Amino acid sequence: MKRMVLTALVAATLVACDSADNQLEKQSESTVADTATPGEQVPATKVVSAPAKLADYTMAAEKVADGVYAIITPARDFPNPQNKGWNSNSTFVVTGDGVLVVDTGSSATIGTALLNTIRTVTDKPIRWIVNTHGHGDHWLGGTSIASAQTEVITSTKVKERIKNELGYWVDLFNQMSEGAIGNDSKALIPTTTVDERTTRKMGGVEVTLIPSGDSHSPGDLLVWLPKLKVLIGGDVLYTDRAPGTFEGKIGQWIKLLKELETLDVVKMIPGHGAVGDGQDIINERKYFEIIWNAVAKAVEAGQSDFEVLPVIKEQLIAYEKIYPGLEKQIGRTVSHAYAQAEAAAF
Ligand SMILES: [Zn+2]
Repeated sequence: MKRMVLTALVAATLVACDSADNQLEKQSESTVADTATPGEQVPATKVVSAPAKLADYTMAAEKVADGVYAIITPARDFPNPQNKGWNSNSTFVVTGDGVLVVDTGSSATIGTALLNTIRTVTDKPIRWIVNTHGHGDHWLGGTSIASAQTEVITSTKVKERIKNELGYWVDLFNQMSEGAIGNDSKALIPTTTVDERTTRKMGGVEVTLIPSGDSHSPGDLLVWLPKLKVLIGGDVLYTDRAPGTFEGKIGQWIKLLKELETLDVVKMIPGHGAVGDGQDIINERKYFEIIWNAVAKAVEAGQSDFEVLPVIKEQLIAYEKIYPGLEKQIGRTVSHAYAQAEAAAF
């Protein structure tokens, strides 16, 4: 029974992470995968046999702009034994008064590795953490990075998830990474919530927090540095792999990407994938438009998602290079889009 629950949970997050591993990918095809809720709590039953050590993570700070550094994982998938659970990007900004960190990785140990990487650049205190969204690969490392003076900022919806979903994500990622993330992660509860577009000065650096309108997942925030023209996208923005759409609202996502295009972004740091630029935002918007327009037509013509899928694949041929591994994911994204277009038509 426990095994079944865990399998269902693995499947659910595979959809959430929209990843590309073959063995686990098979499990994601079950119907449970499309209906299980990430908020579901499970007891910590997984016996962790091989938690990764600090030395297992090789990280580097990549300078993106003046004072802005990305820590980019080479992984392009979900937590697994090879990447030892480190599958998402983090960013830090060195300001006059201390450091802003955006997203803190998938475990306490990964959080420590991130902090050590920040320390190769600056000794300043960590003054602010922003959690871009509620998926555990972006916040489980928080307690390793924060100190008593750190202000932890996210949206109300994401704060609720962080309060409620620790056991869910730890179990799930231990299952997926074969115990690599360990059992010592704790939830770092946010201290400030932001639900409207808000601009603040952090140590002299202008920082705008942009709610996505729940584009990729409920309560996403993006971090925009208007003076530097750097956009830190969380999982609203992707490069090198197709966006995960399990909890997304594709119509809203297109609308948001169009707005982001007007910012004249010079550099963008996605939640997953290499550092990109404004063209990557355009690519992502066009990708979603192709899917969205085709499913809307199909709904109107009374065609099923299954019937429209080959048409969409044909139109997305250029994206096989832009988003490697797309073929493994496109079916799920089309069915998410189809269900939303169908609901919108009524
Ligand atoms: Zn992610």
